[in-house]
Parts: sequence; C-alpha cells; structure tokens
Amino acid sequence: MLDVNIDGVEQAVSTGSLPEWGRVDDLVVAAHERNSTCQDGSVADYIPELAQADPELFGVCVVDVDGGEHAAGDAAAEFSIQSISKAFVYALVCEEFGHQAIADLVGVNNTGLAFNSVIAIELNDGHPMNPMVNAGALATTALMRGLTAADQWEAIKSGLSSFAGRELELDQVVYRSEAATNTRNRAIAGLLESYGRIKRPPLEVVDVYTKQCSLRVSARDLAVMAATLADGGVNPVTGVRVVSAQVCRDTLAVLAANGLYERSGEWLFEIGLPGKSGVAGGLITIAPGKAGIGTFSPRLDQAGNSVRGQQATAYLSRVLGLNIFASAAKQPKDNTLNVD
Ligand code: GLU
Repeated sequence: MLDVNIDGVEQAVSTGSLPEWGRVDDLVVAAHERNSTCQDGSVADYIPELAQADPELFGVCVVDVDGGEHAAGDAAAEFSIQSISKAFVYALVCEEFGHQAIADLVGVNNTGLAFNSVIAIELNDGHPMNPMVNAGALATTALMRGLTAADQWEAIKSGLSSFAGRELELDQVVYRSEAATNTRNRAIAGLLESYGRIKRPPLEVVDVYTKQCSLRVSARDLAVMAATLADGGVNPVTGVRVVSAQVCRDTLAVLAANGLYERSGEWLFEIGLPGKSGVAGGLITIAPGKAGIGTFSPRLDQAGNSVRGQQATAYLSRVLGLNIFASAAKQPKDNTLNVD
C-alpha cells in the first residue's frame, strides 16, 4: 500500500448544506417525474426470483444528515439489497480490523472486470482486489465477527439494521432462489480458499453472503443507510453511532472507485459522488456531510446498474449541488485565461 506519511496529522472535514427544505422536496419529486417514463434496461434474471420483479416500480428518497426525509414514488416498496450490502458489511469489518488490515487483506483497487469475475482473481495471484466485487465481498464476509456462521449472520443482520434504523428481515424466497443457483459464487469461494484468502469453510461463507444479499430494504431504508455514511457513521434518524467517521471515509473511497461495477469511472464522471448499486435495482449515493440518496427501479444497464436510479441521481447531484469535484472561484475574476 501507498505510504502517505500523515501520522499525527489532524483531520479537518469538508462539508456544506442542502438547499432549503421545500426546494429539496420539489427536486426529489422532479427527479422521479422526469425519469418515470424511461423503459431502458432489463430486469436481472440470473437469480430466478429477481426476474419476477415489477419493472415499473420506481422510488426515490433523500435523507439529510439532520434525519429529514424527502421521498417520491415507490420509496416504501421492498426488494433485496443484493450487492449494496457489500458496502455496509465492509464498513462493519473495517470498524473491527481497521483501515490498513482490510486494505492489505482485501484491497481497494478496481478490477475493471465483472463483479463475479474468476479471471480477476487469477490475474492478481488470488488477491480479491476490492470488497465490492464478489471475491472481495466473500473475503470480507468471512472476516465478520462471530464464532460460527450463524453468529456472523446475526452480526451482519443486526449491523445492517443499525444502518437502516429498523430491523431488516431476510427475504426467504430470494435467498432460496439464489442459494439454489449460486454455483459461481461457490467456485469463487473455493478459489479464494485455495489461495489462503478465506479461513472459514467456503460454503458457509457463501451462505452468509447470500443471506446478507437477501435482506429486504426499501429506497427509504437505503437513503437512511447512505445518510449514516454521509453523517460520519451516526444514523441521523435514530442518533445511534454505527461506525466511526474514519470507517465512513474509507468506505466512501472504496465506493467511489468500485461502486458501480465496470461503470464506476463513468458514474464518478457524471455524478461525482460515491455510490453502490445492486442487481435487484437498488442504488445508494452518499453526499458526505449533506445527505444520502436511495433509489429503486429494477431495470438495469449492461453492467447491472439501475437505469432510472442513475438518471434520477444524476439529476439530484446537479440540482442539489452535490458533486464533490465541483467548485466555483472564491473571488469573481475576469474570464481571460492567464497562460503565463
Ligand atoms: N447476490 C448477488 C451475487 O452475488 C449480488 C450481485 C449484485 O448485486 O451485484 O451474484
């Protein structure tokens, strides 16, 4: 890993605020309305039960760091969290083991390959590369606190529920559907074991991972979970600290680099915020110090990202002024470029 030599340097944070309440409400409704007729993309079907989703469902929710909520459309409709769970399990494991250990063990770099790529593992000598692809997520889940797989599952369920501020439940139908068909994830876990990257029985690790992916959430839950990451690790609705501010910072950095599968670069270019999508159609986006955004719409692009979710979030990032790369000159200057 990079030696950044910043021991003992105090951390300042960069923050800002959202526009006034009524304007955020209007813009969330507009984000929903202007994208609700889009039919692009298709519903995931490689997990049989996901193919049953109603493709017309579309919810958008923004939760600010004061716990205020702005919702439009099907923000209460429930679906399985899928890969978005990776972000929160990573945060919980990071809380336990710390910044450096997880960076070394699992990694933070993009693979440039599909989320369930086996080639990526082989190309990198068995290194999982990052916790947002299946190999890294399985290695991360294997590190979760707990003596048995059942203890680990309980710790994940309760940790993700703290992020959401309510008790999340397992979707038994989705879980059984994925458990019956996840041969590729079983192969990835076996490969990781062969490289000494997971120390627990691989099939047990896959089972806990499949359960974490099958937790039921709504767009509103996702917005609260994202807002907790935007709020230095404190759930702004319940006031409970879930993880440290440093863990949030690390998690957001990993999401910025890897959150939208092979389209993470394009996402950062257009939206300018850390995010994470899941194949059931959920999407979280985090505006640090300001708000969390949760969207749900099951039709996905080729990489597995919700199409309407990305469009609604792109709009909100622009109109709410959330892009972390955007700045304006502090002093008005003349428009002539000085090339000296
Ligand atoms: N449970 C899914 C899998 O491992 C998650 C995929 C995703 O949302 O990217 O295949």
